[in-house]
Amino acid sequence: MQETDPLIFKYLDIKDEGGLNLKLEPAPAGYADLFDRPVMLKKLDLELDFSVGVDTILLEGRVSAELEMECARCAEPLTRSFEDTFDEVYPDTVEYIDTREVIRETIGLLAPIKVLCSDSCKGRCLVCGTNRNRQSCACKAEKASPLEALKGLRVEKQEKPGKKDI
Ligand SMILES: [Zn+2]
Ligand SMILES: [Zn+2]
Repeated sequence: MQETDPLIFKYLDIKDEGGLNLKLEPAPAGYADLFDRPVMLKKLDLELDFSVGVDTILLEGRVSAELEMECARCAEPLTRSFEDTFDEVYPDTVEYIDTREVIRETIGLLAPIKVLCSDSCKGRCLVCGTNRNRQSCACKAEKASPLEALKGLRVEKQEKPGKKDI
């Protein structure tokens, strides 16, 4: 069963070949569990480059993925490509080189915490929800700034009665 997974390689096969370079396009469905909504994996490209050392095999890998995400400000869907590389060294004591875990780990870390549709995204109106990139609305734009609220707190604190000595 192990030998049939395209991400598991026989150490001796790669050693005998003097190395191996291959490109794969794994089905995104196999990695869908790595992402939480609204992030969705649309496309995956994988490059594996094995080079043979004296008593090790070095794997240099590259993963690129197309992710569908939402703009953190206006919540419009957007698709972006992300890429990362990884290295792994396998000692000649192993019979099989199982690349599945390091690939999963790398893919799982590809999504940034947030993305913006553009740096100048105006976001949505907090009152009516209008996407301000598309149209403006008549709502009173600015709510009281957090600084105003802090000022109020400070006043209240000063009024707190001090402890009385008994
Ligand atoms: Zn946006
Ligand atoms: Zn509005």
